[in-house]
Amino acid sequence: MQAVPKCRGNWNMRIRKLFKFEAAHIVRNCSSVRCRQNIHGHSFKVELVLKSGTLDNAGMVMDFGLLKGRVSAFFDTFDHSYIIWSEDKSELVRFICNENERWVSLPFSPSAENLAIFFHVIVQGILNNTVPVNGQGGVKVHSVRVHETETGWAETEQDDRPLFEEMASMALNCTFSPEIMAENKEWKETWECLTNNPMSLTSPQENRTLSPEIITR
Ligand SMILES: [Zn+2]
Repeated sequence: MQAVPKCRGNWNMRIRKLFKFEAAHIVRNCSSVRCRQNIHGHSFKVELVLKSGTLDNAGMVMDFGLLKGRVSAFFDTFDHSYIIWSEDKSELVRFICNENERWVSLPFSPSAENLAIFFHVIVQGILNNTVPVNGQGGVKVHSVRVHETETGWAETEQDDRPLFEEMASMALNCTFSPEIMAENKEWKETWECLTNNPMSLTSPQENRTLSPEIITR
């Protein structure tokens, strides 16, 4: 029984998964006064598109259920969090870190564009480190679209490689609050793996260090 097309050649099947989280930020230096001078929140939606030129044993790029583990744990770190730029005013950084339990500190401005690049690099790092469970191979992030509002989004895609390389050099300098790490054990383990393997953000690991994702139901 053949469940998978055997056709060789240059093709890429794509799948798309939506993630959501509620978070707050300030985008310094932007043109809008409301955005650059005020703490405000968004119902973020992230459209993650993965691609592969190989299908797994079921004829899929990757079972959607496999994205409910580490990738979902990653996006959950942002939910009800303050996304802070570590270079923001020191009084604000101190206040957020002392008076909020959930915060993520980034070494770059938390614009939707920068978040899209960051998400692209981190999700690719997770995929590069995870042992495949069902014959899927060479799964890559095709694009990441970050919806900040109902009417506006920013998107990054494969042609933006120079941006990914620059982001990879600073992405691991971000910090998740102790409370986030204490609550989200799956992410804590994944983040430790990524920080121990910085090269894995941009190139597949030969020795993958994250165990296979298991779907229990
Ligand atoms: Zn905003």
